[in-house]
Amino acid sequence: MARKLCGDLWQLDIPLPGSPLKNLNSYLILGEAGERSLLIDTGFHWDACLEALERELDSLKVDRDRMDVFLTHLHSDHAGLATEMKRPGNRIYISSVDGPGIVAAGDPRWEAWYERFIPEGFSREEIEEVRGFAPSQNGAAEELCEMVLLEDGDVLEVGSHRLQCILTPGHTPGHMCLYEPEQQWLFSGDHVLFHITPNICRWPIRRDSLGDYLDSLKKVRDLPVKLLLPAHRTETGVLRERVDELLAHHERRIANTLEVMAGRPGMTAYEIAGEMKWRISCRNWTEFPLTQKLFAVGETLAHLDYLELRGRVYWEEKDGLRLYYLRDDERGKDVTE
Ligand SMILES: [Zn+2]
Repeated sequence: MARKLCGDLWQLDIPLPGSPLKNLNSYLILGEAGERSLLIDTGFHWDACLEALERELDSLKVDRDRMDVFLTHLHSDHAGLATEMKRPGNRIYISSVDGPGIVAAGDPRWEAWYERFIPEGFSREEIEEVRGFAPSQNGAAEELCEMVLLEDGDVLEVGSHRLQCILTPGHTPGHMCLYEPEQQWLFSGDHVLFHITPNICRWPIRRDSLGDYLDSLKKVRDLPVKLLLPAHRTETGVLRERVDELLAHHERRIANTLEVMAGRPGMTAYEIAGEMKWRISCRNWTEFPLTQKLFAVGETLAHLDYLELRGRVYWEEKDGLRLYYLRDDERGKDVTE
């Protein structure tokens, strides 16, 4: 059910069946008769998402020929239905970094996406099994539409609102938040979430996803915000407090990475991830669903990149595998400090 948050701002609840994310919060700034509306994020290219989105837009009698769409980032649970929302006069907005990164479900580029996990320790069998199964691929649209690319600092005018685009790389290389300074609304996408922590993984086009993410958290931390609007789950809260929790969470994960590596030099990222602490209801690493293993290893890689760039770890290639080591001066240090 569409829920009125205040004035012309509505929250639409889009289910994500089978996903640990549970739901997507789409937001709608509803235009008055003859004016344009803005939809923020859409859902996977799945029937269940499309039906929910159509139903909620219908219940609000949105003029679909005057509805623009803003995508906080390229992930399929946000961008998957953009093509379905495109009508001749409608603009689909996304950052200029993430726009070219959207890949259609049948695109051969997905092969390379899975292959890059092999040198990090996934077996060929696991990759064969998970191929085509990850929701990032099977929830993507079959066809992409034309998009309007946005830069950091751009402003979107919707009714009486002037929405500022804030580039917040980390979760994806071109993740973008929208900020309404008058009402003090922040559409935080997957940059700041509650109850769950945004997945930060290695991206081929960025060298330091985790460093980017930590900088992007600091970039929004002190914004005056009355209404924080995250893209998943029902919880919300105080921006500054949550940013501090997320910064502390990654400090702990960095310490955990070093701790695990100190136990056995020369592990793959897959092996390191298998010994790290994750908040998931599985008894052990073997029980992790394969898609969750991809996320966990991706996140471990972002932490390893962060540490490598700061001179604390290095890797060597052996028999087609990347093995990770602590630098000598890291040994013996109390990593929990
Ligand atoms: Zn996402």
